[in-house]
Amino acid sequence: MHRQRRQRYLQALGIEGWRLRAAAHAPAESDAEPQAAAARSDDGRGKAPETPRPDSIANPSGDTAGLDWDGLAARIRACTRCELHRGRTQAVVGAGVRAADLMVVGEGPGAEEDRRGEAFVGRAGRLLDEMLLAIGCSRTGSVFIANIVKCRPPGNRDPRPEEVAACEGYLRRQIDLVKPRVIAAVGRVAAQNLLGTQERLGAMRGREYEYQGTPVIVTYHPAYLLRSPQDKRKAWADLKRVRARLEAGR
Ligand code: URA
Repeated sequence: MHRQRRQRYLQALGIEGWRLRAAAHAPAESDAEPQAAAARSDDGRGKAPETPRPDSIANPSGDTAGLDWDGLAARIRACTRCELHRGRTQAVVGAGVRAADLMVVGEGPGAEEDRRGEAFVGRAGRLLDEMLLAIGCSRTGSVFIANIVKCRPPGNRDPRPEEVAACEGYLRRQIDLVKPRVIAAVGRVAAQNLLGTQERLGAMRGREYEYQGTPVIVTYHPAYLLRSPQDKRKAWADLKRVRARLEAGR
């Protein structure tokens, strides 16, 4: 990518300069994104401990297994498996390219996404695009963006376990179809539900996870970074890990 363009994206992240191969060290942080202000009990580094997966994740609906892209998208758009369908304008299948190296998993559509039917199109989406461009990725080139739930939770509340469970087969099938080399889970809700853990986001950052054999890197949700720009530097450390992972597979 042209140096000046990258520099612009880095400025959006509040980062002055970068070195791609710098050690992807995630500095100790204050675990700011999670709502609970519980003190950290570990330094959040190293291999993630085994965590029991909730039933919703361990036993997802099998009825999406044979669906192709169009069949899956149609199934999502017509879905009435949980209460969220009652309040939606439309279900949001995702955004980006279908054969993507990187898959971003967010929480669920917000108001603008619900209106427009595309993932991450509001302010947070614009920051996400800047973050992706800073590592040479884009939703038009190499990224597919999906959410844990496909319909907007009212008032932007967290999706409930039964809502996540109802949607889990869709996300699983999307990941099967995309076959990304790396998954970036953005935000606590995405990371906890994808990985089947209750760990705090700060404890998950910098660790190695897998989802069905695909490496997962956890970072902050761009909406959180809009509220807490002081943590953009930590997000940048995570993004460099994503980049390094993508490069490692080449
Ligand atoms: N936040 C998310 O987690 N996903 C979206 O699609 C939009 C905002």
